[in-house]
This record gives sequence, C-alpha cells and structure tokens, in this order.
Amino acid sequence: MNGFLLSYDGFDSAAEGLREALTSTGNGYLCTRGAAEWEEADGVHYPGTYVHGGYNRETTILGGLPVLNEDLVNLPNWLVLELRIEEEDAIRIADVELLDYRHEFDIRYATLVRHLRFRDRGGRETTLKSRRFVSMADAHHAGIEWTLTPENWSGRMEVISALDGRVNNHGVERYQQLEGRHLNPVSPRTFGPEVIALKVETRQSNLYISQAARTRLFAGAQPLPVKRTLYQMEDYIQQVLAFDVQQGTPTRVEKVVTFFTSRDPAVSDTLVKAATSAARHTNFPASFERHIAAWEELWRVCDVRVSGDDRVQMLLRLHVAHLLQVCSRHTADLDAGLPARGLNGEAYRGHVFWDEIYAFPFFNVRLPEVTHGLLMYRYRRIGEARAAARAAGLRGAMFPWQSGSDGSEETQRVHLNPLSGHWEPDLSRNQRHVNAAIFYNIWKYFQTTDDQAFLADYGAEMMLEIVRFWASIAHFNPSRERYEIHGVMGPDEFHDKYPDAREGGLRNNAYTNVMVAWLCDITGKMLPLLPHSRVEALRQRLGIGDDELALWQDMSRRMFVPFHDDGIISQFEGYEDLEELDWDAYRAEYGNIQRLDRILRAEGNDPNRYKVTKQADTVMLFFLFRQSEIREIFGRLGYDYTDDTAMRNVAYYDRRTSHGSTLSFVTHAGVLAALDPASSWDRFLIALQSDADDIQGGTTQEGIHVGVMSGTLDLVQRCYAGTHVRDNVLYFDPQLPVQIKSLSFSIQFRQTPIQVTLSADWLTLASHPEGAAHPVRAGVRGDVRDLCPGDRAVFDLGQDAATTGPQAHN
Ligand code: BGC
Repeated sequence: MNGFLLSYDGFDSAAEGLREALTSTGNGYLCTRGAAEWEEADGVHYPGTYVHGGYNRETTILGGLPVLNEDLVNLPNWLVLELRIEEEDAIRIADVELLDYRHEFDIRYATLVRHLRFRDRGGRETTLKSRRFVSMADAHHAGIEWTLTPENWSGRMEVISALDGRVNNHGVERYQQLEGRHLNPVSPRTFGPEVIALKVETRQSNLYISQAARTRLFAGAQPLPVKRTLYQMEDYIQQVLAFDVQQGTPTRVEKVVTFFTSRDPAVSDTLVKAATSAARHTNFPASFERHIAAWEELWRVCDVRVSGDDRVQMLLRLHVAHLLQVCSRHTADLDAGLPARGLNGEAYRGHVFWDEIYAFPFFNVRLPEVTHGLLMYRYRRIGEARAAARAAGLRGAMFPWQSGSDGSEETQRVHLNPLSGHWEPDLSRNQRHVNAAIFYNIWKYFQTTDDQAFLADYGAEMMLEIVRFWASIAHFNPSRERYEIHGVMGPDEFHDKYPDAREGGLRNNAYTNVMVAWLCDITGKMLPLLPHSRVEALRQRLGIGDDELALWQDMSRRMFVPFHDDGIISQFEGYEDLEELDWDAYRAEYGNIQRLDRILRAEGNDPNRYKVTKQADTVMLFFLFRQSEIREIFGRLGYDYTDDTAMRNVAYYDRRTSHGSTLSFVTHAGVLAALDPASSWDRFLIALQSDADDIQGGTTQEGIHVGVMSGTLDLVQRCYAGTHVRDNVLYFDPQLPVQIKSLSFSIQFRQTPIQVTLSADWLTLASHPEGAAHPVRAGVRGDVRDLCPGDRAVFDLGQDAATTGPQAHN
C-alpha cells in the first residue's frame, strides 16, 4: 500500500458523495469537492466549492414561522469541463459503457485523478485522464488537466469549459426544506479570446465572488489551434473548444482557474482581478510544480510517520492533508474560523463549534500562525460575545455555540429528526462550555509558542472576559458553600434539559464546573506574565477590581462538582436518578445506535430520561488534563481524587456512551492510552476510519469531520507520544501502543524545530541546526535537558530515564 494514496476502482453511484468529500482539493483558502467535472448536482454528484467566511443568511418560512439560517455558500461551479464527441450529447457516466474507471486522491500533493476508458453509444472508445489541484502555492489558483485519447477512432471533439453560477446549497438532504438560494448574478465577461469570467454576489451579505478560467489545448507541450464559441447568460458562461483528434494521439486540455472575493486584501473589482490573474497564469505544468513544492515543504513540517501498520499510516496522512486543505498558512490572514465539517460539504452550514480544541494541538507545534489566525477570528467577534452576555443578563463575553460570519449565535432553534421527519426544538446553544474551550485554547497556544505579543494584545482580554462571564453565570450556594452553574449543557447533546422540564439546561455539569475552576486558577497565573502596565491598562479598560480577582480565586477553590454516592463524578446534578437504558435491546432492534437521541425521539421517548451519553462529557476532563493536573484541580477544590478515579469514571461512562459524535472515539482512545492500551487502540482505529469508511452511514458525504481527523493526530502526539508543556518544559510521557513500532514527527517548540523519533525503548529529540538562538528545555519525567540548535538528546525509555538516561549528544 502506498502511504499517500486513496484510491477507488470502479464507479459506485451510492458511494460517490462520500468519495467526493474525501477527494476534495483545497488549500486553506478554498476547497472543492471531488465531483467529476462533467456532472451536475443530481442526487449522485454534488459539485461544491466553499471559501472561508463565504456566509449568507436567508429566511425560510417553516410551519408559518420564519427560520433564519446562515450558511457557508456553495460558490459557482468552476469545474465544468464536458466532452462532446462528433457533436453528440456531452458524455455522462450514466450514458457510457465504462471499460475502466479509477478515482484517486494523491494525498501527498492533494491531487485528484480520474482515469476513465469508455465506449460511447457510437461504439467509439476513448480514454480520459483528469488531474486537478487547488494550488497550495498560489492561494487564488487552481488547475484541471484532461488528457484525451481516442482509442479506436479519429474525428471531431468538443470540450465545453464553463463557470456555472446557477448553483444552490442543496448538499444536505435534511436541509432541503430550507432556503438554498444564496447567490445573485452580477455579470459574465470575456477577457481576450481565452479567458471567461463570472461574478456573483451573495444575496444578503453582499460578498462579491469572481472566478475566471483560461482554457487551452496542447499536443504534448505544443499549443493547438482551436475554434472557440462563446455562450453566456447572466449567471453562466461557457466556451466551446472544437478540434480534430487522431486515433491513439493524446490531446491535453488545460483549464486554469482563479478566485477572488471582496473579502480578499489587495483587490478592487474581483472580476477584473480574477480575469487578469487567469490571463497571467502560467500553464498547468508550471503551476503544478509550484503546488508540489509548497506541499513538499508542508510535509517536512507536518508529516506524522508510523511504522507497523500501513493503513494507519495512510489514514493519518489523509487526515493531515485534509486538515491542511481546510487550514493552511493561507488561512492565517483570512479572518477564518475552523468549520466543523471543513470546506468539504454543507453539514452544520459551515459553522464553527468547539471542535478546534481537537485541532489546535496539531497546529500549535507545526503551523502556530494558523492557531493564531483562528484565535483572532474569535477576538474579532468579542464585541458580539459581550453583547450576547449582556442580552442574557450576564457579564463578560459569551461566545456562541455555533459561530459564522459575525460571531452571533447561529445555532438553529429547530432541528429536523430524519428518522421521524419532525422538526424538534434545538436547545444545544446552551453548550456554554465552548467558552471554556476558547480559554483553554488560548492558554495552550501561549504555553506552546510563548507568543507574548498575542497574549498581551488579544489573548488576555479574551481570557478575562471569559472568566468574567463564568463568574457572572455562576452563583454561590450558601448551603453548600460552593459556586454552582445552572441552565447549561455539557458536550453530551443527548441531555439538554431535565425530563419533563419546560426550560432547557441542566444544573452543575461537572465538565463545565471543573473547567471553570481550572480557568479561574489560570487567570491568576496568567496576569503576572503580562507587563505590569498592560495588566493595569486591561484592568482599567475592563473595570476589573480587586474584588473580582478575589472572586475568581475563590471560585477556583469552591466550584461545586456533583458526585454519585459511589464516588463517580455525576455528569450533572441529578444524573444518577435517571433510568438505565436497556442497551442490548436497542442494539438488537436497531443495530447502530450511535444516534440514540433520534431513535428514542422517533419512538416518542426522550433521551433526557436515561443514563445515555452521546459523547465524552465528564470523560473530556481526563482527555484535556493530565492526571497530575486534574489531581491538583480536585485537590484545590477539596474533592477526593484517587489513583482509580479516572479508570472508574471512564469505565462508568463508557458503558453509557453511544459515541453519537465520532469525536467521542478520539476522547476515549486518548484517555485509555494509559489505562487500557488495547481498548485505546480499538477506539483509535474507529476514529481513524470513521470518515474514510463513513461509519455513521451518510454523514461524511456532507463534509469531513475536521475535529475527528485532527483529533487522531492529537491523539498520536499528545496521548501516544505524551507531548505536553509544563513549567516551560516540553515533556514526553510515551504510551506507544504495541501496534506502532516507531513514530516520528517534527514539532516546533517556542520557535525551535525539533525532530521527534520514538520507539518502545528510545526517544530521540533532534533540534534543527537553524532553530531559535536560545535553548529550549525538553525531557522525559525528571530527565530534563537543554536543547540548543543542532543538539540531539536520546532518552532510554526502558530504564528509569531520570537517573540512567544517556547524556545529550551535542
Ligand atoms: C457534536 C459536537 C460538535 C459538533 C460539530 C456534534 O455532533 O456533538 O460536539 O461540536 O457535532 O462537529
């Protein structure tokens, strides 16, 4: 197996949507599904192109009520290339006899390849090889190359090359009743004989989007003369290129395409910009070379190499590639958030949730500018978050559960249950824990990068406003002498209220309360790291008095955490009183019961009644914090934390979790790395295959799961290699599964690039000769060493490294 190839033989209409999502080509600026160039959206195929921040709001009247939704807009289809042979209808897969069909994604260079040999109705056999890339070198460029060979005939071919603005958002079956029209036509244009261009505008947000395409024909490297015919409408433009072909002689068609939106810097009219850029574009081979060079450089920084299991290797690389296609260096300056389903489909409408908590560990140590950019997305929306807190009668900043263009709450109020066909109330906006995740992400980014400027200029302000939000939503319960938080939900979306309650929300979600205790403590540790003048300025501007600081301190020691009688942490207060579900009976009846919520609701039942958990909730704590950290947090709170607390809690919730979000497999695998390696590995494999094999049966075709893909990489790095930062030291605490013989990856710790190589017995850290001038500190348990540029440190994991590890070789 090639560690860089995802390949499908034979066409399968039922699997095409999944393949399109998994073979999407993108560069962190835009991403396009791997739909065939000649097909339209028709239930089997779904060409979709999305750019960061390309949102639009539309209202749908549902049951007489207006429902407002913001969607990441499907942009004009730039792929269109159609083939006509001897003036017959353009070739579609359904109309020809396929003699050979292969659909591949070259993971290394994010290149989509389709190879077809077909016999048309006239008995002519033709080979078509298509290659496509969205340039990692030039963010606004993409290219398609076709090689056409008539195998048993000579005659006339026509290629239709178009830009098609007649597209809607129709990629998700569940949303079909919602308004899917988001674009208004502006103008089609030609620029010289070769370039066609199209400009559209989003209907409400008034974003201009322009694309331009230059199509040329070649025999080898020689341009071929061609007759061109133009056809245009207000939202569609095409050129027909007609030419003669000889049996056995290949003809190359190149379509180079450019994209600009009115969100881009350095642009006046997007249409002119796209057209001039297309006219100046180098030919496909030269552009592709630059694209390859950009990916080569990315792989040097981002590859994660494992030996022992070829499929694991291939899938990890697939995840790296997809993550980089959604967020790359091109994303850093874009005012972009991390859409939970990538730029690969329309599920969750391109919204940004808390999933970035699974992705940032990957970026922090490889491309920290990406995390920086994504955190700036949050900072630029702090005004909306403050307004949301105020509107709820609270203080500080309340970031939305689902975020889109401007940081308002985008979570819908009704949700369609596809099993029952009913629209049900959606209370998931009560997942205030997203505010804790943002705080956590800022702190981890800072710990890893030591980016003082970010902390001082933006990070601290967000952290202070978030802690202030938590202090205002919490209240002190004098009878318990503890702070409590009511009316919120944890990550488990099966519980959004108490059974039969009218109001949404729960009391004292343990995950949330512990996160709050932690972040209250960290705030006290963060402030002294800032220049004194900055602290004063921030405190003055935000009006933070000593009493508020003292309150946060107190909360770090006195947040309430509910427990069952037997010492199990209660997911929320009252959890232990819920009914147990007969899991075996449900499994027997329904098979896959990951989405128990939909099953129970379709039965007229309510998941809120049962001890059923969609995804890791309490267990998240053991994933985000190391044992020593969580012991410290519980100790500060005055709660018992024993050696078996983690194991007992994980086992308890594992039995009651349906893993209805695949994020849950990542979390459980991470937590089990140290506790139960065999079980951890099983979960890791499920998470690793979840998109490639579409284990939820139909969700991946609506967009990849970025959190899960990046979570598997986080798992390898943070849980299996045990990478973590404490007291300014980069530590490793390896728990390498036996299935991985060796693991290696590059990381960057505080501007020092380090090559990490790990086996069961040895850990080697090699600092790059051109790292930062100052040494960084790295180690295993008590064995901490200084790493200067060019240093190599070897740790013997088989022995007590603290006393007997070999010395660093300088
Ligand atoms: C999960 C959330 C997640 C969201 C977007 C939901 O199914 O429950 O935790 O943020 O998907 O990925």
